[in-house]
Amino acid sequence: MTESLFLIRSFQWRHVTVVEIKNDIRCIKLILPNGKVVDVLSPVLGEICKWLQNETTKPESGGYIVGYQHTSTGNISLEAVSHPYLMDIKNRVRFDIRDPRHQLFLRKARRNKSYYMGVWHTHPQEVPVPSDIDWNDWNETMRSDTTGCQFVFFIIAGTKEWRVWAGALENGIIHELMECEKNTEGIYLKDETNEEFC
Ligand SMILES: [Zn+2]
Repeated sequence: MTESLFLIRSFQWRHVTVVEIKNDIRCIKLILPNGKVVDVLSPVLGEICKWLQNETTKPESGGYIVGYQHTSTGNISLEAVSHPYLMDIKNRVRFDIRDPRHQLFLRKARRNKSYYMGVWHTHPQEVPVPSDIDWNDWNETMRSDTTGCQFVFFIIAGTKEWRVWAGALENGIIHELMECEKNTEGIYLKDETNEEFC
């Protein structure tokens, strides 16, 4: 399999839309409970695609998510992720961030005004279902972490479908996010802010 970002196979987001990631890498737009839009940008999609557990030997992988909130609209962009390093703890069903390079990644991102926004990890399932450990981790994260916005984002990438949750820091409630509506050609219908369109 090629390492090229531009030949990653297609995948499904939740149960609805297939996104082709071939020559035309695009972002995914998700809708928050407050009506604001979250853009998951192509570097996030491309990096996570490299770590999918689509072979039985591949361990669980994960890392931090960084991004920023647009001050004018309140919309959010998730623009990059850290990936597994040597000192992380990983096996087929568990991944723990331990390598200090994840903290370096956050510091470097912060210098470029991109802030900690949450965590991602893979599952060996086609359609990922959060485990009890995931829910415990996420609730602990909600209690201990602050981000560059009012939410913490949790991405789980399965082998066929990916799912995203957003935890609201004001009340601790974690919602799964759905993708913004698209037309039959796959173009997002909700695009009130053209300058953010990707
Ligand atoms: Zn998990």
